[in-house]
Amino acid sequence: MTERVYNFSPGPAVLPLPVLEQAQRDLLSLPGVGASVMEISHRSKAFDAILTDAQALIRQLLGVPDNYRLVFMQGGAHLQFTLVAQNFLRGTGRTAEYVLTGSWGNAAFKEAQKEGSARAIWDGKQHNYSHLPAFNELKISADAAYLHMTSNETIQGVQFKGEPDTGTVPLVCDSSSDFLSRPIDVRRYGLIYACAQKNAGIAGVTAVLIRDDLLERVPKNLSASLDYANFAKTDSRPNTPPCFAIYILMLVCRWLRDEIGGLEKMAALNTQKAKLLYDVVDSSGGFYRPHARPDCRSLMNVTFRLPSEELEAEFVKDAAQLKLTELKGHRSVGGIRASIYNAMPRAGVEALAQFMGDFAQRKG
Ligand SMILES: *Cc1c(COP(=O)(O)O)cnc(C)c1O
Repeated sequence: MTERVYNFSPGPAVLPLPVLEQAQRDLLSLPGVGASVMEISHRSKAFDAILTDAQALIRQLLGVPDNYRLVFMQGGAHLQFTLVAQNFLRGTGRTAEYVLTGSWGNAAFKEAQKEGSARAIWDGKQHNYSHLPAFNELKISADAAYLHMTSNETIQGVQFKGEPDTGTVPLVCDSSSDFLSRPIDVRRYGLIYACAQKNAGIAGVTAVLIRDDLLERVPKNLSASLDYANFAKTDSRPNTPPCFAIYILMLVCRWLRDEIGGLEKMAALNTQKAKLLYDVVDSSGGFYRPHARPDCRSLMNVTFRLPSEELEAEFVKDAAQLKLTELKGHRSVGGIRASIYNAMPRAGVEALAQFMGDFAQRKG
């Protein structure tokens, strides 16, 4: 078998090795079943157990209160951009407010505008999304349909440390790239969505946490496949769900609980990993130029530039020879992006930090 690399891909991204090994062991037959999760009914006892387990683990890890429903949907975070607006904006006569902190917030905003009135109450465009607003800068209207934020902007590498107090306005959050990376206070949110392929599993499933009372606001005439209330009512199975993706999500959550020891521990590890890279950036005498302002730096996606595009290309090429891969930044920011999600082992980050130090010394 080809040796595994340290894969810094922004998504789909690295998975914990024990999860892949477990999936490999179960690939031909789930224990006691005689068939794989890909080959059994989504209404079978065996799949029921997997779905229930995944839900219970996420609830336990995040401390989800009883008045929240957890559903699994398809269509990625992109479909959530649309669904949030269809379920909670369309036909309300209200305005949805968006905090634009990078590419993904903008993408969500664009979809909302197709469904109704939406406006940006903060937009970091003029400084190329290098920093975030302070929460007291956000002037949220008391009658807004909801406030939408992106907890971690995967492309720019800026991450909120908490969440604004939105009062009675439901806070909707795209947590796709930092879901399960740290503890959060779920009670401050109306709805949280996260596609799984960054930090929680593989493409095909999106976890959505919705506060009960919001389900009553869902218009009655929505298509059944686009209706949050219907997903809650049918326990994520209005039709065939992505069984394999839910199974992997369940294994990732088990790994978080049993091998990592929960989200406090995970957050501590993530903080240490990110510090290894930012320390090299900060001590490089300006060779590495961080994209994000220091107080807004992401613990998940570390973004920086080098003195020239030629050096950036060389950096990516030399790193790959050391089996440090997928480091090229997104075209809108340029430079380098090291995505160091939960499953990226500390050893991988250490190897990258070492390489960065050596490279700066050689070329600086
Ligand atoms: C990757 C990502 C998305 C897009 O996810 P899809 O599943 O491809 O639709 C949206 N928001 C954030 C924050 C992301 O990181």
